[in-house]
Amino acid sequence: MSSPSATEKKTSTTRSTMWHSDGSVILQAQDTQFRVHWSILALNSTFFRDLQGLPQPPGQPTIDGCPVIDLAGDDVTDVEYLLKALYSPPFLCQKALPLAVIAAHIRLGRKYDFREVLDLAVERLSFDNPTTLAEYDALPAPYPTRILPYDGIEFDIITLARENAIMSVLPCAYYHLLILHKTVDKLFEGVQRSDGSRASLSLNALRECVSGRDKLMHAQLDQQGSCGWYRFWAPGSDCTNSNGRCAQTRDARLRAYLDSPALRALAGFDPQHEANKQVCSACKHHISQSNADGRRKTWDRLPAFFGLPPWGELKDQP
Ligand SMILES: [Zn+2]
Repeated sequence: MSSPSATEKKTSTTRSTMWHSDGSVILQAQDTQFRVHWSILALNSTFFRDLQGLPQPPGQPTIDGCPVIDLAGDDVTDVEYLLKALYSPPFLCQKALPLAVIAAHIRLGRKYDFREVLDLAVERLSFDNPTTLAEYDALPAPYPTRILPYDGIEFDIITLARENAIMSVLPCAYYHLLILHKTVDKLFEGVQRSDGSRASLSLNALRECVSGRDKLMHAQLDQQGSCGWYRFWAPGSDCTNSNGRCAQTRDARLRAYLDSPALRALAGFDPQHEANKQVCSACKHHISQSNADGRRKTWDRLPAFFGLPPWGELKDQP
């Protein structure tokens, strides 16, 4: 009676479709095995470069002479997404990728030091959640653009960033969420994804978000705020409206706001808008400046509204 070689891996496992017949190493995640190449792994990851150089421990399981590396604790789908990135550049270069792919690249990219894969994934989150007002203003709509959208993704982006300490994206991600969900009830409820599960925030994230909303709502009507002109601005000597229409517009904007308060802390002043059409061009210029100053000041303080360190100290975990 012949017994299998002690070094032959027992076969209660599934072979992934990523099984390269000329591969030189087997990665095993849960019960799934992937046959890939040391050279590809080593090229992209210092972890695997170092591992390849180590002598194989005696008794290590092999398949067709390839060592089997057990990726204990890693998700099969995460490993699939990582290998797809390594083996298929067009996959990685798509304009938008699913959030699950980006999450896998962040988790495994960081764990095994696949530096480029990690950096590209973080870059996608950062593109849609930038750290400068100029980049925020240049964002195309709708949100997000480099990640494939689905119902509730704005909640999941925050959860992913918090779980992986990608801190620099949080202020803008929170702000996006507050613009998309205008009531505190909606923030608490979350959104049902198409598979029936619910996208929502952790209690800590919810606290940062709701507290930030409250502070921003107050700050936007401060003298220094983007809408401060509703309360604190008055037409100057260069006003060309002798009938008081510029001040009337200001008062009307304040009344409309009080009837229906909304987060406008980073909203621009649109001189062409119907509500502003009675304002003379000199006053439009002053209001635009006041609004632009307010937006800049709000952006500078955006992390602080959510209880986060200032932009300069808001570092991502490497
Ligand atoms: Zn005027």
